[in-house]
Amino acid sequence: MRSPISIPALARYCGGVWLVGIALCAAEVTRERIPTPAGELVLYPIQHATLALQGGDRVVYVDPVGGAARFEGVPKPTLVLVTDIHGDHFHLETLQAVAGEAVPLLAPSAVVEKLPTALRSRATTLDAGQRREVGGVLVEAIAAYNTTPERLRYHAKGRGVGFVIALAGQRIYVSGDTEDVPEMRALENITVALVSMNLPYTMTVEQAADAVRAFRPKRVYPYHCRGSDLEKFKALVGADAGVEVRLLDWYRP
Ligand SMILES: [Zn+2]
Repeated sequence: MRSPISIPALARYCGGVWLVGIALCAAEVTRERIPTPAGELVLYPIQHATLALQGGDRVVYVDPVGGAARFEGVPKPTLVLVTDIHGDHFHLETLQAVAGEAVPLLAPSAVVEKLPTALRSRATTLDAGQRREVGGVLVEAIAAYNTTPERLRYHAKGRGVGFVIALAGQRIYVSGDTEDVPEMRALENITVALVSMNLPYTMTVEQAADAVRAFRPKRVYPYHCRGSDLEKFKALVGADAGVEVRLLDWYRP
């Protein structure tokens, strides 16, 4: 569920006590609580491609960019994942700030090569098709790339990845920047999927819906989806595949 208190509502509530209002409003963070047989999973949709996932005492940040202040109100990470080298996924200052002195990192080679020595020393390279347990979390890297000729220049095969993350006894898929590649379509036993859809960088809502109907996660969240017709995506996924579509606001000011 979304937090029941929206920022505008909270701002109105804060009303005359302006300073208190600012403090309360700044602390607001959106949480999506997902019940599972093994306990609650919490998704924090931070912005665009940036998110956090919590299952039990494990907290995984994915693609932290935009400054550490975006993570106020979110538990500290026990693992940080980066999917690709572009600025909406990899921002060194934010990464250094949220990872502090000890949090392990997992990223594909192209990202690890860009890290300064101190950060690289506790980064584990995970390229497509590989899986490793780091920080008590099993993570598998799934290939992420463009397949449409005019989009190949954005994400060449072999560089970026998506991840399947094991948390709260569930498999959570975060697609990274990709089209509906066979590696996505072949996924199995996914409880929660976060799937990118925007042009010209990733894919159309038609492609995304078709892929989701192929690998059938129990629940899907569009993300990395600025400008996309998400109601159309929801309609295309339909009700017959057993996939619940959940729409969140990834572009709050
Ligand atoms: Zn991107």
